[in-house]
Amino acid sequence: MALSLRIVQKLPKADLHSHIDGSIPFRELSRIARENHREIMTRRGSVLANAGAFFDFVTGEGYHTFLSEILDRFYPILGLMQTEETIREVGRTYVNELKKDGIIYAEGRFAPHYHTVEGMTQADVIESMLEGLKAGSEETGVHANLIVAFGREVGIGLAEEVVSQALRYEGRGVVGIDIGGKEAGNPPERFQSAFKLTFDSRLRRTAHAGEDAGSVDQSLRNIRNSIMLLRADRIGHAVNLASDRALMSLVVERGVALEMNPVSNLTLHHIRSLRELGLDLLLSSGAAVCVNSDDPALWPNGSLSENFVAVCDAYNFGLEEVDALASNSFSSAFASHEEKEVMREEYKRVSSRLKS
Ligand SMILES: [Zn+2]
Repeated sequence: MALSLRIVQKLPKADLHSHIDGSIPFRELSRIARENHREIMTRRGSVLANAGAFFDFVTGEGYHTFLSEILDRFYPILGLMQTEETIREVGRTYVNELKKDGIIYAEGRFAPHYHTVEGMTQADVIESMLEGLKAGSEETGVHANLIVAFGREVGIGLAEEVVSQALRYEGRGVVGIDIGGKEAGNPPERFQSAFKLTFDSRLRRTAHAGEDAGSVDQSLRNIRNSIMLLRADRIGHAVNLASDRALMSLVVERGVALEMNPVSNLTLHHIRSLRELGLDLLLSSGAAVCVNSDDPALWPNGSLSENFVAVCDAYNFGLEEVDALASNSFSSAFASHEEKEVMREEYKRVSSRLKS
């Protein structure tokens, strides 16, 4: 059976690595702006009046370096998300978008410290997002938990503050922490004290590592240090991991899951072809590889289903591999055992129907 987009969209999937602010289509951002008497504009004050202008700005010339200028590129979205109302609506919309792509569970992430420009506290920001996700879940039946992230460009003081805030919501919708943003020059060890705050908690840890570290060696070092020093349960991206057998063994031994983001890596020029990720090798080594969307609304063909189809095309994968990738994402979710079982059952029910 050929794996068409239509079939993959029907499969009940989990997305463990999506940035909430990169998951809202322009038409929805535009609606939210209108309803809240705001405008979508660049940091310099140019209004982005339509989807074309938005894409040109966010993913236009030079966008593949956007991790180093992430605040400018994301400003049109972050600038909108400065009130409780807009954050709630973004959260609600995020869950509705998941539903459209056949996602039954997601861990959306965002960094609360980007949303305090107009006076909200980080607690206001997190609470508004949790309310929005809950409203979306009630409407759709899709469950979305929250991962609280911080950008690597912040000082250690602010990083610790973000993690302390996340800890207040442990067991109330926040399931983990994450470190993202500009990787080159900002190695994980610098942020160990912030991650350490969670070591005795139930919050789980993920880290962007090996995405854009400046060199292959530094990528591999960042992956290793995220595991050893930050005690990451999952690694986001890990672009060069398949080139290092010893590190792959460490990943498998420690049961560290891999949140791969193939279309994002290709779009942002971190790889030249999807095969560079070595997903076949990682899967056969026993690593818990899963496929994720990263920022599905920021570039064409970015949805989770489209990521699956792109991977199947590049690696000649069929349903068997898709089953394994989906199963890995259920197992690696920061969700309860019971919830993971429900996801697996739902997947089994739909996939066996599609196979017959
Ligand atoms: Zn990411």
